[in-house]
Amino acid sequence: MGTDCLFCRIVAGEIPATIVRETATTLAFRDIDPKAPVHVLVIPKEHYADVATLAQGDPGLAGEVLATAAVVAEEEGLLADGFRLMFNTGSYAGQEVFHAHAHLFGGAPLGPMLA
Ligand code: 5GP
Repeated sequence: MGTDCLFCRIVAGEIPATIVRETATTLAFRDIDPKAPVHVLVIPKEHYADVATLAQGDPGLAGEVLATAAVVAEEEGLLADGFRLMFNTGSYAGQEVFHAHAHLFGGAPLGPMLA
């Protein structure tokens, strides 16, 4: 996608981010405006607009995003007490960045929903 996409620019190193894990195909970095004590975004390096197009276009890559999220959850010490993975998809969900991303939340009780 390139210069129009914020998260593609983070993948390219053009915009700084606090990266917590990188694989050949995925990147995990801390959200700039955290909504929980741990709030990490996990993305495919390749551009897909949302998780629906990702899962339909490359299910294996979608699985790699989940696998990276699980490793980050373990590294952040979230396995004992639990965590939440969330994919905002489209306008009703309030998606703001149209590069597929999982929100990984944890570190405190999260309540029934987290915007
Ligand atoms: P969405 O609403 O699209 O699901 O979530 C987008 C997320 O990206 C938001 O939680 C927002 O705080 C985060 N975000 C927006 N711009 C940046 C940025 O430049 N760097 C980082 N690390 N996160 C960002």
